[in-house]
Amino acid sequence: MKYPKLRELREAIYSLVTPAYTTEFPAKPHTPPENYRGKPVVDDQHCVGCETCANVCPSGVITFTDDKEKKIRITTRDYGLCIFCGQCQEHCITGKGVRLSDQIYEMSVFDRKELIERQEKELLVCENCGAVITTKDHLQFMHRKLGPKAFASILNLNVLNETLRLASKEDTHVEIKDDLKRKDLFNVICPNCLRKVLINTSW
Ligand code: SF4
Ligand code: SF4
Repeated sequence: MKYPKLRELREAIYSLVTPAYTTEFPAKPHTPPENYRGKPVVDDQHCVGCETCANVCPSGVITFTDDKEKKIRITTRDYGLCIFCGQCQEHCITGKGVRLSDQIYEMSVFDRKELIERQEKELLVCENCGAVITTKDHLQFMHRKLGPKAFASILNLNVLNETLRLASKEDTHVEIKDDLKRKDLFNVICPNCLRKVLINTSW
């Protein structure tokens, strides 16, 4: 028969008379320490779908898919892969698009798919060549940042014109037919098509 060593016996007696080191979670709610980094929470009002967080995420949690037909950008976030590093929050261009919660830490699920979140944003697609520009929210965010300087670029001006057209509810839309013409200068929103209008077409 093996007898416990003296050190082990001392530790057993010590742990019997001292309070537990571990908490009683999940039987009792756990209070995370200050600056705890829990699940990233996206604020759709402030997230513009710019893809920056996807580029900095080291675990490949965030993926973007552009559906040109439906003109939507689908963002998928698989929090089953998240390592709570905080890079997405650190690099978010609006500063408020995503925040690591200091309260949400319970992420145990039976089906990992339950940890996948999906977000949709309206996409700007060039009417002439079908190129994806970015999301509408992203461009509007840049306009707000630039202020009146946004009007210095024809591309920005055309997007703003489109917003005004929609607000006026009048059908002032000019259809792009055949090849690009000078009339389309204030119609296209793609840098390549704009270059074609400026360089390749005659007045
Ligand atoms: S906390 Fe880190 S791993 Fe998790 S989504 Fe953000 S960047 Fe990716
Ligand atoms: S960086 Fe910020 S604004 Fe851009 S997609 Fe990520 S959360 Fe949204």
